[in-house]
Amino acid sequence: MTSTPRISLAVLCGGRSARLGSDKGLHQPLGDEPLVARAVRLWTEVASDVMVVVRDSAQEDLYKSTLSRVLTAPEFGRVRLIVDDVNSSTHAALNGVRTALREAKENAVLTIPVDQLGVRPLHLRKLVTAFATAPSPLAAVSFRTANDVLPFPSLWNREVAEERIAALIDASSFSVKAALAESRALFLDAGEYADELAFNGNTADEIKSYFGDPLFDPFDRRLHYLRFSLTEACNLSCTYCLPDGFPEWYRHKARLGQREIDVLLRGFRQLGFRKLRLTGGEPTVHPKCLDAVKLARRVGYERIAMTTNGLLLPDLAPWVDAGLNQLNVSLDSLDPEKFHAVTGSREATKVRKVVEDAARAGLTVKVNTVLLRTKNGDRENIEQLIDWALDLPITLRFIELMETKLNGTFAAPERVLGTEIEPLLSARGLTQESWDQRAPDLRGPSTDYSAAGRPGRIGLINPMSCNFCSKCNRLRVTAKAGLKLCLFGDNDLPLDLESPEAVALNVRRLIGRKPERHHLEAGDVGNVSTFRTIGG
Ligand code: SAM
Repeated sequence: MTSTPRISLAVLCGGRSARLGSDKGLHQPLGDEPLVARAVRLWTEVASDVMVVVRDSAQEDLYKSTLSRVLTAPEFGRVRLIVDDVNSSTHAALNGVRTALREAKENAVLTIPVDQLGVRPLHLRKLVTAFATAPSPLAAVSFRTANDVLPFPSLWNREVAEERIAALIDASSFSVKAALAESRALFLDAGEYADELAFNGNTADEIKSYFGDPLFDPFDRRLHYLRFSLTEACNLSCTYCLPDGFPEWYRHKARLGQREIDVLLRGFRQLGFRKLRLTGGEPTVHPKCLDAVKLARRVGYERIAMTTNGLLLPDLAPWVDAGLNQLNVSLDSLDPEKFHAVTGSREATKVRKVVEDAARAGLTVKVNTVLLRTKNGDRENIEQLIDWALDLPITLRFIELMETKLNGTFAAPERVLGTEIEPLLSARGLTQESWDQRAPDLRGPSTDYSAAGRPGRIGLINPMSCNFCSKCNRLRVTAKAGLKLCLFGDNDLPLDLESPEAVALNVRRLIGRKPERHHLEAGDVGNVSTFRTIGG
């Protein structure tokens, strides 16, 4: 087997949930999403067929109504509810595996109980690769830690394993581990992923300690997205950031230390934050940037993104292994001369390759383009970028130039408006997508356009219209460890870095000051001197 196999995913929900005391899959640790919906959101990335395996028709009815309420229509349309036909608390797990193998549409069947909270697509891809590259057909692939075989997540070969599992159950052997040990199974060393793979949320306390306590602002917006600036230093000096070069006061560039990074990332996890974006300055110039991605994955951030100019990312493999899910790459032109005019660098081709490599590596990729009328705002540049992006599985967003204290007089004449780009999109048959229909990781402040048959999307970000404030779910931390409640807020609030608990308490106390919206449209840029200090 060499090509990537098609996968049926089975989310096992039929357990008795005895220690939790209520249906585990319906438990809502953050108040807005049951565990079963989270599992579908998180794990379906690798699967062409998705089954949620339940124990009886009553549970099936409950799950059907819950999932239809909380998933978008396309997500819900992919899910099949399967009833596990043997109703016994003693062998729910192996029986769930058997039912999954019997009902799967594909030959490779991935089984994961809904409470295996730390499992990520990254881990699943490792199982799939091992399955696909095994010299002779395997019965299953699973992970092993230093002490033990892990029964889940496991990837089964239906043709080889189904009969054997049925025979074991008939002989009253119900252990998944034993079934793996007795089959032609391959055990991958879990290595640094051991703790997260082995973690089950069996009790309400365990689930709460994993997810944290959700944080709401005074306008009832739940905040779960941290934009985290590791450093103010950058290896470029883009014109929109610093139109007149470095000001005198900007000699010292703040940078977070390793302990500060650790305490802050853990503190925000205690507040139920699940998405992280590393930014800067340029995050990759920070020597601990890769370690920050690893730590974020270990402590349970579900989506880890980074905004970067891409110049220091010649090889993405270590980043993917560390847990990075999404890369936003700033690329203002494919033309080396125009790229140079904006950024001062001649490496446009290198950055273009990073984007293409990232898309190939399966990351969610967005390209950020800021247009300046006299440098890269010409029609030829815009069209070249659009046509390139539409052929790749990426989203290229044109971000309207925002005013800052340092680019004040420069911003208005140089700004190219989204409305100037719209005709170029309709000329290519692109139409606007509705926000609700977009995959969760593609929902953001941009208005996106796409066309049937083209993998790419084009987005327009118009910060002046402030259409995103009502959906704000984010907080920012600067490289000076200051909390920014709003991108264009007028002060950064110092955080107590004594411990993760102190950070969480401190943020909870300060959250009452988060404003309802910014007033950029009225020229109020708050205390933003340049985006290098906050990362956008
Ligand atoms: N160094 C990283 C990079 O190049 O992506 C991260 C920091 S950079 C400040 C983040 C993003 O902000 C970039 O995509 C950049 O194009 C954008 N940006 C900077 N100044 C801006 C401005 N005045 N208006 C709009 N976007 C801006």
